[in-house]
Amino acid sequence: MALKVTNPANGAKIVTLPSDDAKSVKAKYERARASQPAWARVRMKQRLEAIARFRALVLADAEHLAKVLSTEVGKPIAQARNELKGVLPRIDFFLEAAAQTLRTKRVSRDGAMEERISHEPLGVVANVSAWNYPWFVGSNVFVPALLAGNAVLYKPSEFAAMTGLEIARLLHAAGVPEGVFTAVIGDGKVGGALVAQPVDGVFFTGSVATGKRIAAAVAGRLVKLQLELGGKDPIYVCEDVDIAKAAAGIADGAFYNTGQSCCSVERIYVHRRVFAPFVEAFVAEVRRLRRGDPADDATYIGPLTRAPQLKVLEAQVKDAVKKGARLLAGGKRVKAKGNWFEPTVLVDVDHSMAVMREESFGPIIGIMAAKDDADAVRLMNDTSYGLTAGVYTGDRGRAEKILSQVASGSVYWNCCDRVSPRLPWSGLRDSGIGLTLSTYGIETFTRPKAWHLRSPT
Ligand code: NAD
Repeated sequence: MALKVTNPANGAKIVTLPSDDAKSVKAKYERARASQPAWARVRMKQRLEAIARFRALVLADAEHLAKVLSTEVGKPIAQARNELKGVLPRIDFFLEAAAQTLRTKRVSRDGAMEERISHEPLGVVANVSAWNYPWFVGSNVFVPALLAGNAVLYKPSEFAAMTGLEIARLLHAAGVPEGVFTAVIGDGKVGGALVAQPVDGVFFTGSVATGKRIAAAVAGRLVKLQLELGGKDPIYVCEDVDIAKAAAGIADGAFYNTGQSCCSVERIYVHRRVFAPFVEAFVAEVRRLRRGDPADDATYIGPLTRAPQLKVLEAQVKDAVKKGARLLAGGKRVKAKGNWFEPTVLVDVDHSMAVMREESFGPIIGIMAAKDDADAVRLMNDTSYGLTAGVYTGDRGRAEKILSQVASGSVYWNCCDRVSPRLPWSGLRDSGIGLTLSTYGIETFTRPKAWHLRSPT
């Protein structure tokens, strides 16, 4: 089988890669199963050294890796470089925190009786990944999973397969055995064949629809399952902000990575007293965003990675305009080869419109007025998602009060579209189950084992 990789900026074929099939996936699973026990016996220090070497190799090869990423995903090269730069502190966090988090802990000693907790690897885990930040969402899983002693079957998205193969190349060069980290290449069907193997954990990043399909596929097997899914992330702008600064920060949160981030700002609510000046400043920011060749250092908006998403964006604009929304910028495809859509701003939107309810995953945003803080909280919570939410205000107490009432995995004050390796990354409802990052995101690749030890003396 073969996987054709095309450049989303111009539709040109880049390469055809050999793809896995059900038979090769099974063989890869069996090799991973056979390799895992020896990896679990390797001392933590050696596993840490292998990941530190991987980090060094990523750093040394960063420019080449950024170009590969930019070409296959269409990510503007400056943002591809940022992703490569940003993966290093994530790896550093895992290198610093893994040994302490995973050490065996004595939790009680009472006379002859001792109680201990150890962290056992899950075994063989499947890591089915998305294309939008392949270095981030991949390394959030495979780095701590490997450090915890698991074997990883890593399926990069079919839209980021070249990056997936680069990751495998560098991990192997760093000393992670081939059976311990294996790239599985192919489309959703190959992903289906992977999660059908008797793995000990399935860690998925991607869309809600696929996440639910995977949950159904593994339900009968009672294996550990994590789903990191989409979002419809809201921001509320209070009337006491520096409008120009807030507009610039939120435009970046909505349009960075061409709006293709799970935590992109997807809905904006503005206190009615500053609605008009905020919208004016926001549209001015959007008009400044430079769309162009992803290979150009100055480009900010690239093509969409997946062509079918163009239709989703068109349908959202059409639905909103039909129901009374006004277009203040963009609104249509760009007539050119590749998957281009104009940065789009809609006002006079409401929650009957798909653009305020369904994940857009592209350069499009709806802005709506809120009467007061209570109205904003109600609007922010009126969603089937719950990944991130933020407030812009000069008043920290007000921000904390609002954010405490918002049902969301992460909350932001005067920032957005932000991920920290030290904080857990998780979502509510359709945004998923389980988490990555932070020390919880290391423990999650293990099974706690309870030791009851009574000394004979
Ligand atoms: P997708 O669901 O189309 O694909 C994700 C992965 O699943 C790919 O590797 C694909 O090949 C595989 N797949 C597809 N069908 C499968 C099946 N039946 N069985 C097993 N695997 C299957 O998602 P995508 O387009 O790659 O990613 C975009 C989505 O990911 C967005 O919704 C975004 O919000 C979400 N996302 C979430 C996070 C997060 O941390 N919450 C991070 C990044 C992206």
